[in-house]
Parts: sequence; structure tokens; C-alpha cells
Amino acid sequence: MPDRRSDSLQPEDSPVELDVSTNRLVFLISRDHKLRNELSDQLANYGFEVLSFPDLEAVRVAMQAKVPLAIVADLSEEHDENPMTLAELKLFRDKAVPVLIVSNEDGFLSRLEAVRFGGDFYFQKPVDLFSIVGVLDKLTDSLMPDPYRVLVVNGPATRNQAVQALDISPDVLIHRLDHPDHIFDVLVDFDPELVLLDLYYPECLGMELSAVIRQQDGFGGLPILFQSTETDPVKKGAALKRGGDEILSSAVQPEELYSSISLRVERYRTVMSQTVRDSLTGLLNHTTTRKKLETEVSRSERQGQLMGFAMVDIDKFKYVNDTYGHSAGDRVIQNLARLLKQRVRRADVVGRYGGEEFAILLTGLDREQMKARLDEIRLDFSHVVHSYHEYQFRCTFSCGLTFYPDFDTAQQLNDAADEAMYQAKDNGGNQVQIRLP
Ligand code: GH3
Ligand code: MG
Ligand code: MG
Repeated sequence: MPDRRSDSLQPEDSPVELDVSTNRLVFLISRDHKLRNELSDQLANYGFEVLSFPDLEAVRVAMQAKVPLAIVADLSEEHDENPMTLAELKLFRDKAVPVLIVSNEDGFLSRLEAVRFGGDFYFQKPVDLFSIVGVLDKLTDSLMPDPYRVLVVNGPATRNQAVQALDISPDVLIHRLDHPDHIFDVLVDFDPELVLLDLYYPECLGMELSAVIRQQDGFGGLPILFQSTETDPVKKGAALKRGGDEILSSAVQPEELYSSISLRVERYRTVMSQTVRDSLTGLLNHTTTRKKLETEVSRSERQGQLMGFAMVDIDKFKYVNDTYGHSAGDRVIQNLARLLKQRVRRADVVGRYGGEEFAILLTGLDREQMKARLDEIRLDFSHVVHSYHEYQFRCTFSCGLTFYPDFDTAQQLNDAADEAMYQAKDNGGNQVQIRLP
């Protein structure tokens, strides 16, 4: 559960290993030893725990103790004279556990039949691990949707029952600000996805405040809602003209307020993801990562906290492109992006810094723990088998790690991490090097 204290700007700042609230258990039903071993080993590198079962009866028993994130059911017959049938999978549909079906067949009819019997996803053998991880990733994300981050600048009209009701909802994370003059720090630290304002404050008008917010670099498109007891249509029109999206009554019901917020934040997220994310990996793009580095340096300075900045570069990547093709190289980049995203905390930042280069911002751990975390990821990545058409191969990466406040500007952190990364390459690659001042 996110921490909703209004004085907490970092809802998830306790050091945790993997996100323990996320169910990463996968049940695999297959009599194919090879598939069982391969999937267990490979999914473990992505932080999933796989339990294998020879038949449905064993799964039925296990499900009484724990319900998995998903079930992978191998329906292929080559290892079995008496294969599991689709009809038997109805059991899981009743329990609402997503089922990923693996089969030798790839015709329309077999897919249709699978869907009818509760198979949510269908994979033809030989299974492509990348696609399976992709589906499991989406299922994990859907279990833990990010709450809408709403900044409320307190005024008489925003102190009402609807806002209070949202304050205790897990779907909305509210930060309350008492004085409009602190708006700049909060915009950067809390990074709201919507702002809720009153039309009138002792210090200024709500529409003036919305205009000030919109003038800030990067916040021009931020949704802004007003709540007010104002009934004069001329005054309401003026507020919307200065940059508000909608004026709600201060007596609005919680459901109506929630649906207004939800609609606007979802749209904002879609627009933002097109401008701030890299299309190949879904990670933050270079420009946004660089901006994040700058804002996180300011935040670390204000809060006096340690921050790690790491640069990661895939070793001998040209060889991968030259040997297996550019698309195979792209696949490796996507695999590493997924692994990095999964193995840092949700609050940490992972960006694609360049072609096969990534940047990571870490907080909530000490220096040794950050190094250890990156070393774990490095080791896991070196074990991932990348498959592309008939090719199967492994890769490694090198990593340079530096810390704020050892280096105290974005540029210095960047340069120091870069140097450390080249040091790691010079020492033979596949290692994490730290650069101290
Ligand atoms: P080193 O171990 O020193 O890092 O060697 P390297 O071969 O990885 O060298 P370098 O980092 O300089 O090479 C990066 C290569 O990555 C060059 C470029 O063709 C390739 N590349 C950059 N972006 C992409 C991409 O989006 N997809 C693919 N497939 N390749 C890319
Ligand atoms: Mg490079
Ligand atoms: Mg490289």
C-alpha cells in the first residue's frame, strides 16, 4: 500500500528487495523435462519463481495453499500418450488464474478452442521465452497498477468529503499542499499527474496558480481541475481560459471526482508515454532520463540522501549485430530493459541512454547494497539465453557506478559513471566498477 502521509514525498522509500507484494509465482504443467528445466531457469533470471507439476491433480492440491500469478500449461503430445485436455483447464478459469497454453498446433481452430476453454494466451512450440516474459510482465503490472498521483492545493472548496474519500482509496495517491508558494518543489518532487485547485486562495486566484504551473517547463500539459462553489459562468469561463480543464462543484460526489481524475490521468499517461518513453523498450528515453537525473540530484540535495547513478553498456554488442543480425540485437536490448526494470524498485529510474546503453538511478540502499544489486542483475543477465529464430546466445554488460554526493552535479555524475564503465570494459567487461572522487 502506498504511504499517503501528506508530508511524504517519496511513497516507496523503504529499501526492499524485490517488490514482495507482487505475486511472481508461476505454475508450469508439463511432462516435457527439457521445457520444465529451461523455463524454470530462464524465468528465474527475470525474478519469477516457477513450480513445475506433472499433472493437474498436483496443481489442484498446490492451489489450495497458494494461487499463482499464472499457469503455463503444455498441451503438446510428443512426451505423453495421455495428454492433458483443454476441458480440464476449466478449473483455472473458474479460479480466474490466467492460463498460458503451449501447444504444437497453430491453426485457427486450435487457438479458438483454447480461448473457449479459458486459455488466455497461446504459444506454439518451441516457446519463445521473450513472449512469455512479456505476458507475465503485463500480468504483474496489472496486479499493481500505479495509483493516480494527484496534487491538491488546499483551499476551502477542496476540503470536502469527495477528496477525503479519494485520499483513502488505493487507486489515488494524494499529496496535499497548504501554501501555493511551495508549488515548484512539489511539482518536481511529487511529479503529479493531475492538480486539483480551488478557484480562490488568500495569496492568489486559482486561475493565476494554474497559469504559473503551465509556464513551468514540462508541466504545460498537466491536467488541472478546479473545485469551487462559484456559480457565475463568466468567472468560471475565465478560469478555464487561463489553463484549467474542468470546474467541478465543491459538492461533487466521490465517484464523479474519481471518474474525472481517471479519465484525464489515463489520457495524460498515454500522451506522456509517447514523448518520454523509448519505443523499443518502453523505458524512459535519453532526454527524460537526463532530466530525471537533474531533478533527482536536486531532491537528494534537499533531502540529504544518497543516490546511485549507474551506466550500463552491453559488451561486444557489435559482434551480436554482425553475427545474428540487427533484429537479434534489438531483442537483446529489450531483454536487458525488462530485466533492469524488474530488478530495481518501482520508485527507481531506468532509462535507455543510448543504443545499447542504459542509465539507472537508485535510492534507498547504501553504497555496498547498490553495488551488490547491480552485480546480481549483471550475473542474471549473463545467464539469460537470448533466442532469435534459430540462434541462441548469451551476452554480458559492463557497468559504471557513482554516487551523489561524491559527485554533486548531473554532469559530474554522468562523466564519472561513464569513466567507471570504461574502466569495467578495460578490465575485461562483465563487471561493475565504482568511481569514487
Ligand atoms: P564494447 O564491449 O566496447 O561496448 O563494444 P560494443 O561492440 O558493444 O561497442 P559499442 O558499445 O561502441 O557499440 C554499440 C553498437 O550498438 C553500435 C551500434 O551499431 C549498435 N546499436 C546501437 N543502437 C542499436 C539498436 O537500437 N539496435 C541494435 N540492434 N543495435 C544498435
Ligand atoms: Mg555503447
Ligand atoms: Mg557496448
